[in-house]
Amino acid sequence: MERKRYSINRRASFGASVVAMAFTAAGAWAQAPAAIPPDVFPADSEEQRIADLVTANHILADQNVLDSYGHVTVRSFKNPKHFLMSGNRAPALVTADDIMEFDENSMPVDQRGRRVYNERFIHGEIYRLRPDVVAVVHGHAPDVLPFTVTGVPFKALIHMAHFIGSEPAPVFDLEDVEGPNNNMLVLNPKSGEALAKKLGDRNVVLMRGHGMTVVGPNVRRATYNAVYTQVNARVEIEALKLGQPKFLNKFEVQRVGQINRAWDGWADQVKGARR
Ligand SMILES: [Zn+2]
Repeated sequence: MERKRYSINRRASFGASVVAMAFTAAGAWAQAPAAIPPDVFPADSEEQRIADLVTANHILADQNVLDSYGHVTVRSFKNPKHFLMSGNRAPALVTADDIMEFDENSMPVDQRGRRVYNERFIHGEIYRLRPDVVAVVHGHAPDVLPFTVTGVPFKALIHMAHFIGSEPAPVFDLEDVEGPNNNMLVLNPKSGEALAKKLGDRNVVLMRGHGMTVVGPNVRRATYNAVYTQVNARVEIEALKLGQPKFLNKFEVQRVGQINRAWDGWADQVKGARR
């Protein structure tokens, strides 16, 4: 089977070879260190995206990133304006038969009486504004919640969470869009668009008193990002008890880590789940 590498890894590989050449030119290394081979992902297809989406549902539930109300989606390979999402059920129970297609207005293409998630507009409006985003995770990870309500800056504190960035993650407040008499949920395109604009070009947006939305260039990286957003929050809360944490700087957040090693380990832990 032909395998395809995502462009972000090609950039990482290119960057590594430039560094290697620079060292050689300066004579600092007799032999340039070999570049670390980038992750190799399965060939991209609608079927592969659905398979990864089902696994991501199980992993994110198993890792306590998604409770029974969170959801994860992937952009359709066949029709990039559309996205794929489970019908309304707990992520731990999602099977391939539950995956439904939604159009660019977050409406189901073939509903057949099935229930859908009310907050699907989060996903649809991010796909509309961010062509680079291929997967979106929305959930209520408990360790992240304190940063949504206190104004304490949430930034990359550990190397595995570099994707959060060295500037504070934006915090979305539904009250700014729907007024004080809102129900705390993103239930329409207007609120979804405001959330997508608050996310901007970042990978993580916090939601006041609600949770987080995390994006990635494929399902596996979005899953990784969501897991390590929760871990970073846990570490930052603990670090703040001890003193003033030193966060990653603007250079340190540029690294691109391995994904498949984590994905394979997490997937193995849920391999008995229904598919
Ligand atoms: Zn929610």
